[in-house]
Amino acid sequence: MADPVAPNSAARKKMLLKAARGYRDSLNDGAVAYLYGRGFDDATISRFGFGYVESPLPEHTYAKGMLAIPYITPSNGIKSIRFRCIEDHVCKDVEKHAKYWGESGIRSGMFNTKDLASDSDTIAVCEGELDAITISGSGIMPAVGVPGANGWQSFYPRMLAGFSRVVLVADGDDAGSKLASTFRRALPLSGTVMLCKPGDDVNSVYVREGKEGLQSLLKGEEDDE
Ligand SMILES: [Zn+2]
Repeated sequence: MADPVAPNSAARKKMLLKAARGYRDSLNDGAVAYLYGRGFDDATISRFGFGYVESPLPEHTYAKGMLAIPYITPSNGIKSIRFRCIEDHVCKDVEKHAKYWGESGIRSGMFNTKDLASDSDTIAVCEGELDAITISGSGIMPAVGVPGANGWQSFYPRMLAGFSRVVLVADGDDAGSKLASTFRRALPLSGTVMLCKPGDDVNSVYVREGKEGLQSLLKGEEDDE
């Protein structure tokens, strides 16, 4: 397995940049409609470089027809790309495939590392890329994403060391609670945890209640269950 912290080789960097650009240029009406449905506007869609996999690179054949979510670095390179199924079905129940996919053996790093350069005292850490985009894109506070509830990586605390308050916003389910325990151990001083209500995540709160609903979620009492 690739070392998660090791930089990509020059050839891989070039490959990922080319792939992300190609997918971005293939973003079609269906994928845009999906993103609008998540509450993202054109500026957010463009800022985060969303794409659609029409013609996958050989490494990404599995992702054909999926949404492409690039991990854009502060210098506008691409660290990795994660893919999400946007078909209108319940992936694991009906189709027996995972909702998210990434190249096997590749750890994605942290999502939206550009926001680490913010001079805010507080940063949000979200369970998943789309939740990080929801908070960062709405301008409430900087936000980074963990690639899924099991995606916490041991080097994250070093990356978050410049913030005096780090707010984990996790889903209100078992996986979210497990992530919250890992997070509390990793950031005992600066870490604060907000768990969404069961069945909710950051994005569903935003779609239902808008920016105000999200702000009140983030201002809530710490959940120390
Ligand atoms: Zn699916």
